[in-house]
Amino acid sequence: MKNAFIAALVGVAVAVAAAPVITSEQIDPEINAKIRAEAENNSQIMRTMHYLTDVHGPRLTGSPNFKAAAEWTVKQMTEWGFKNGKLEPWDFVNADQSPRQGWLNERFAGHIIAPVKDSLVGEIVAWTPSTKGTVVADAVHLVPPTRPTQPELDAWIKDITPKIKGQIVLVGAHTAVRVNVTPPALRRNDDDLRRQMDPDAPPSEAGRGGRGGRGAGGAGRGGEPPDPTRLTPQAVNTAMNALMLSAGVAVRLNDAGRDHGQIRAFQNNTYDVTKAPPTVVLRNEDYGRISRILDNGTPVRLEFTIVNQSFPAGKSFNAVAEIPGTDKADEVVMLGGHLDSWHSATGATDNAIGCAVMMEAARILQAIGVKPRRTIRVALWGGEEQGLLGSKAYVKEHFGTAENPKPAFSKFNGYFNVDSGTGRIRGASVFGPPEAGTVLREIFKPFEDLGVMGALSTNSRRSGGTDSTSFNEAGLPGIGLSQDPIEYQTYTWHTNLDTYERIIEEDVKKSAAAIASALYHLAMRDEMLPRFSKENMPAPPAPPGPARGGSGQR
Ligand SMILES: [Zn+2]
Repeated sequence: MKNAFIAALVGVAVAVAAAPVITSEQIDPEINAKIRAEAENNSQIMRTMHYLTDVHGPRLTGSPNFKAAAEWTVKQMTEWGFKNGKLEPWDFVNADQSPRQGWLNERFAGHIIAPVKDSLVGEIVAWTPSTKGTVVADAVHLVPPTRPTQPELDAWIKDITPKIKGQIVLVGAHTAVRVNVTPPALRRNDDDLRRQMDPDAPPSEAGRGGRGGRGAGGAGRGGEPPDPTRLTPQAVNTAMNALMLSAGVAVRLNDAGRDHGQIRAFQNNTYDVTKAPPTVVLRNEDYGRISRILDNGTPVRLEFTIVNQSFPAGKSFNAVAEIPGTDKADEVVMLGGHLDSWHSATGATDNAIGCAVMMEAARILQAIGVKPRRTIRVALWGGEEQGLLGSKAYVKEHFGTAENPKPAFSKFNGYFNVDSGTGRIRGASVFGPPEAGTVLREIFKPFEDLGVMGALSTNSRRSGGTDSTSFNEAGLPGIGLSQDPIEYQTYTWHTNLDTYERIIEEDVKKSAAAIASALYHLAMRDEMLPRFSKENMPAPPAPPGPARGGSGQR
């Protein structure tokens, strides 16, 4: 899951809520009772989590771990009785369409060997190379100029090159991380949520803003336009990698810049191991210790061993399986999450748990023996962390867009997505007219005691954040589920701490029960989930311009 999405779930959804629409959903209390009992008494979520995290994690897109995890999910769903389980390949390629390789870190050890001896804690940047065996060298601390012009950077590089030849180089000033004396709440407030999820509630100062409020984070950030003669941080970073390679630097070290040993390690942006030196993100505490010793005039000697593997790729996969429908089998209700993770932990909260909850929601329906009228399809995506690649490829292949639809486009009844960690689900945002929000609100109503406070509609087709927006972008009803934050943004999201231990079983069992019920009722109702007609379909978003920047992931 990416950053901007959380604000969007609250902000955008509120913006399009309109006058109340009276519908009357047929809710089956007997089925709901069976769903709750199966979710509570026979839950498979933690078993699924064990296989996805302990056994197969981390699941970086393109790695053998990812493929093994995807194969395991298909095998498991087939054993549960789902049909048509398979891996669907899609092209994992670079901007120039060349195949992108897979990558895996196998071994890492880092030590300070002088003036003291101790081990170091770090994570490897993905798609960077191995060290040449175990390397020992002096540490050099470089702080590149901020927003230099090209001539300024060239002069700095010329000056610095002789000092770093063959050494281990710390790049960037040490980040002083302040102690947070006002930690954010782990759960969302019931009353605030109820107000946010009520399309008829008058705007209130407390209720509506959420974090940042409506329209936060959009245009207008940063004030003055950037000086085009000055290089961006990304351009300086690329120049640093080129410098390190030409100077034969043994290892590049970056500062994690987070407290309590948390490390977020992403990728070399070229996805090409020949374009970067071996690179380690050191925990802030080790980076600080080394840089302070150096700054005090004492030489530091370091030792690193890094073994990475590359794999022929060019393909990744989505894992899908179905519970076939009956009289409306050609209509489909989908649910899923992304199966890929970052590589510095086993990717439990981002997003093995989204997959495990969705597999469970469908399993519950299979186990209690219902015969859904519409086909229920679970899809577990690859490539989300590299830009929603798997879900975008799937939507394109199977549904097309509102402007260029395939036959299945008109038969689509919604895609539920979980991708915000372990917190129980608290509400939903569906791409569609207000009536779609009303349907979901009524379907979720019996689960208010488990914390689900409602649903709203949104008309935003902008993709980003997570895989439900790949559906929204095409003009299809993606359903994003919002959750209690727990430790997601603060500790586990994209960090080395994202493990099985961070899952709250009570929360995820509740989420699975509520989703199973919503899924069932959408699969059974006489009419399709209300959707935008051709005439009132919002226009597709303009392609992002260069000034907008894109990923929002950091
Ligand atoms: Zn995610």
